[in-house]
Amino acid sequence: MEFIADEMLGKLARWLRILGVSVITDLGMGNFDDLALKAAEERNCVILTRDENLFKRAVKRNIRVEFVPEDPIRALAEISAKYGIQLEINLDKTRCPTCNTPLRRVRPEEAIGKVPDAVVRSGKQILVCNKCNKYYWTGTHYENMLSELEIARSLRGR
Ligand SMILES: [Zn+2]
Repeated sequence: MEFIADEMLGKLARWLRILGVSVITDLGMGNFDDLALKAAEERNCVILTRDENLFKRAVKRNIRVEFVPEDPIRALAEISAKYGIQLEINLDKTRCPTCNTPLRRVRPEEAIGKVPDAVVRSGKQILVCNKCNKYYWTGTHYENMLSELEIARSLRGR
């Protein structure tokens, strides 16, 4: 399953990628709505939007589309419930929140000089995006994300 999300939904897009779901946000040059509709038809994607006009155009063309709530965690709860997405981070499936490329786990030795020494020594999981060359690890930010996911799970339960 693959989603297309517009720029307004940056945080939701990042969340879905972290959960291992592919979300396209960059459709190249041109009118975003036109490109989104075309790409959704060709690739059979679901469009996520808060733009009423885009929503209506998609419905008219029988393209799967979701009008999502403004709050990203609430949006995540709704979309994950509807599409059966697990609200858990699987480090073997997670994608780069910035560019959507699947991340690769690296051994601590491989990350020397790329992440703080304390992280290398800590035994935390380290991952890299081979496209943007960005390193990620299971630090404080990761812990915060886990509590946000907890909130999303509780919203979904209701
Ligand atoms: Zn990346």
